[in-house]
Parts: sequence; structure tokens; C-alpha cells
Amino acid sequence: MTPWRATKDFTVAVVGGGVCGLACAIALAKEGVHVDVYETTTKFKEIGAGIGLGPNAVRVLRELGVWEDVHAASGEADLNMRVFRYISGLSDHEIFYDNILASEDHGLGIARFSLIDALLKHFDISRAHFNKRCINVSPSAANPSVQILTFTDGTTREANVVIGADGIKSTIRSIITGRSVDADVAWSNTAAYRGLVQLREAKAAGVKVDLAAGFWCFMGPEKHIVTFPIQGGNTINVVAFVTNGPEPIGLAKLPHGEPWVKTTPQSELLEAYDGWGHQVKGLLKCLHKPSKWSICAVHPHLPSYVKGNVALIGDAAHAMLTHLGGGAGQGLEDALLLARLLGAPGTNVGNLERVLRIYDGLRRPRSQNIWDRSLRAGQVYEALGEHGFNTDGVRKDLAGIFIPVWHHKLQDDIQEGYKQIRAL
Ligand SMILES: Cc1cc2nc3c(=O)[nH]c(=O)nc-3n(C[C@H](O)[C@H](O)[C@H](O)COP(=O)(O)OP(=O)(O)OC[C@H]3O[C@@H](n4cnc5c(N)ncnc54)[C@H](O)[C@@H]3O)c2cc1C
Repeated sequence: MTPWRATKDFTVAVVGGGVCGLACAIALAKEGVHVDVYETTTKFKEIGAGIGLGPNAVRVLRELGVWEDVHAASGEADLNMRVFRYISGLSDHEIFYDNILASEDHGLGIARFSLIDALLKHFDISRAHFNKRCINVSPSAANPSVQILTFTDGTTREANVVIGADGIKSTIRSIITGRSVDADVAWSNTAAYRGLVQLREAKAAGVKVDLAAGFWCFMGPEKHIVTFPIQGGNTINVVAFVTNGPEPIGLAKLPHGEPWVKTTPQSELLEAYDGWGHQVKGLLKCLHKPSKWSICAVHPHLPSYVKGNVALIGDAAHAMLTHLGGGAGQGLEDALLLARLLGAPGTNVGNLERVLRIYDGLRRPRSQNIWDRSLRAGQVYEALGEHGFNTDGVRKDLAGIFIPVWHHKLQDDIQEGYKQIRAL
């Protein structure tokens, strides 16, 4: 990896080196912007098993020039998501809905650590700063166009723009909103049990559907299970959701002392799915050591993703429910658009605040719309759809559900952003 060279007259600090922070840094470097990434942990890593990348995420990764490495790291030969199927999780396992995919709808599942490794092939590691937990950002008294970042180790760094890519528990968000970190995070009343299952074992346990062929969603009251293949199809990423009741998001409180992520005995999961169909039970018996995630989201919607020369991307801005597999995809769209606007010929140290406002105007409506749609999708998966829990009703509720997520024209937003920058 050749060291990055900068041509612009300003610098950027990205706080947080998850998928979105790394992608943003890579995109900024390609635009000739000097960028440093500050990460609280000792190395770049991802927790969780697999991640599904839909066509909009794939397009961003292609634009970033990292796609070939991501694809190779996934072990997937076929990018066409052949199967995208919704099926009853109850005793009959009736097929409710087949999402018909366009030939250009490329997507894949990938182990999270493989995605990070692929991104790092395009990252100048001398720009990474580990053990750096950012606790404050404030404009310099001497020069307000310079932001001072303060870290828990007592050190400070300077940059003209600070990008908060620090995830759902974002410190940078609380600096923008002036509220506590928790004030903008709500529990969804849902737990997700996650893990990997070996395809061979699932077949032996009586799972008849072709799990290796693509995405499956087993639906039913207050629960659903999502599966997709990773590592060439021999391993299946499984996420089994259990909801506690129909309270609207934001009302239910996470039980006191309950951690967001913990390992759980398999028996708890099997008990929750007692009474479901034989294929579901067979599948879950193969999920030996599930980790249990309390699913939270940024809620209510933020009124702005920017303040002064500070901006949010990814989960820090709009962590959403996972039901359209769109969280990282939205964060990648943020990352590319923001980098393109900062790299635009008309962007300079004198107009950064106005450029960030253009970013906010373009990205906030789009990502918050996908947030709303993700919430509604989860309700349909768990038998609370508007048209009822039967084949006709589910078909009506799910028809075209992924089109707004996958077929958005980010390039049009980038062109609109360039136009607005030219008019500054
Ligand atoms: C169960 C589940 C399944 C999901 N499935 C999918 C899927 O299939 N497809 C999809 O697109 N999305 C999915 N998502 C959502 C996706 O995982 C997230 O949207 C995405 O990982 C967010 O990336 P990020 O970089 O914004 O944040 P994160 O990945 O949370 O990264 C934040 C980084 O910031 C660091 N950090 C935090 N605070 C500080 C600080 N103060 N200073 C410095 N560093 C800091 C952290 O250590 C971390 O490295 C899923 C989420 C869940 C919970």
C-alpha cells in the first residue's frame, strides 16, 4: 500500500474504525484529503458473525475500488442472489413470498472480519491511531476552523473536519446533540440470537430448504429467523429474533443491567422457538453457542447529522433495525457521498461547514426513510403486517420491499451535492 498523499487545504479526523469509518477514510484519501482514523480499540476488528451486503452497498464498494478484494474475501463465486425467499416458520413451512431479483441485483454475505481485512488492503495503516477513545471535540479558540479532539489518555489532536463514525453509542453524536449518548438510543424490545451453522449439520438435522442458495426468512408471530450463506455456502449465518410484545420502539426499556451482547445457553433459544416448525427447530439445534444481542436503534430521528465542522455517518447517525439488512449499506452511502463532497473542486477550508450542511440535506432524509422501512419490515416478518399473516397478505406487504433500499441512485445525490457546492 503506497502512502496516501493529500492535495486539499484541510484535514479530516474520522473517529471510529468500523466498516463505515474505514470506508470513509479510504474514499477521502482517494479524493486527496488528508485523513486520520482514531479508534478506541487496539486494532481494527468487527464483532458479530456475517453481514449481508445488498446491491447499493456493492455499488459503493465498487466506487471505492475495493470491491474485487471484498468479493474475493467472501469466497462467493456467484454474485446473483439466486434465492430471496420468505417462508412460514410454523409447522407447514409454506412459502409466502419470493422476492424476484433483477439481474443487476448483486449482493453477498461475508464474514465481518473478512470485510474489514479486505478494506484494510486499501488503507494506509500509518493513518490509524489505536487506543484513542475520543471524549470531546471543540473548536480551537485561536482558530475556529480547527477542531480539537480530546482523548481519554489526555492527548489532543487537530483537524478541520471531524467525522463521527463511532457507532450506535456515539460520543460524537452526543457532542452534536448536546444530549447524553443514551438519550438518542432506544431498545426495540427484540433480542437477536446470532451465530454460524455448518450446512452439512443443518441438512442432517432435517433442514430441507436450500440454505446455501441465498437469503431465507422464516416468519411467525413475535419471532423470525434470517439466514444467508457465507464462505462459499458451507457456512450459514443465522440470526433468530425474539420480540417481547408489540410496544412501539422507545417505550420498552432494556431490563436493568442487561448487557447489549452476551453469550447465551442454546436452551434459551430453543425454548423461545418451542412450537415452531421442524425445520426451524432443526436449524436452531445446530446453533450451538448463540450470542444474544439486544437490538437497539437511534431513536427518535436526529434533527441534524452535522454541527459546525462535525458530521456523523453510519450507526452513529442512524443505527436502524436490521430487518432490511441495510445498516451498513446506508453507512457506506454516507461515507462515499460525504467523501465526494469534501473532495469536490469547490470545497476548501473556508466553506467546510456549508458543505457538511449539504451532506446532511442529502443523506438524512434517505437514511431515515430506510430506518422507517426497516421497522415496518420487521413488523411484517412477525405477523403484524397490514394485510394479515397469510400468503396473500404477506405478498402484498412485502412486494417491492427492497427496491427503495437497493435501487437508490446515489450518483444523482453526488451530482446534486456538486451542484450545490458550485452555488456556494
Ligand atoms: C444483529 C445485526 C445484524 C446486522 N446485519 C446487517 C446486514 O446484514 N447488513 C447490513 O448492512 N447491516 C447489518 N447490520 C448493521 C451493521 O452491522 C451496522 O450498521 C454497521 O456495522 C455500522 O458500522 P459503523 O462503522 O457505523 O459502526 P461500528 O461498526 O459500530 O463501528 C464503530 C467503531 O467506532 C469505535 N468507537 C466507538 N466509540 C469510539 C470513540 N469514542 N473513539 C474512538 N473510537 C470509537 C468502535 O470501537 C468501532 O470500531 C446488522 C446489525 C446487527 C446488530
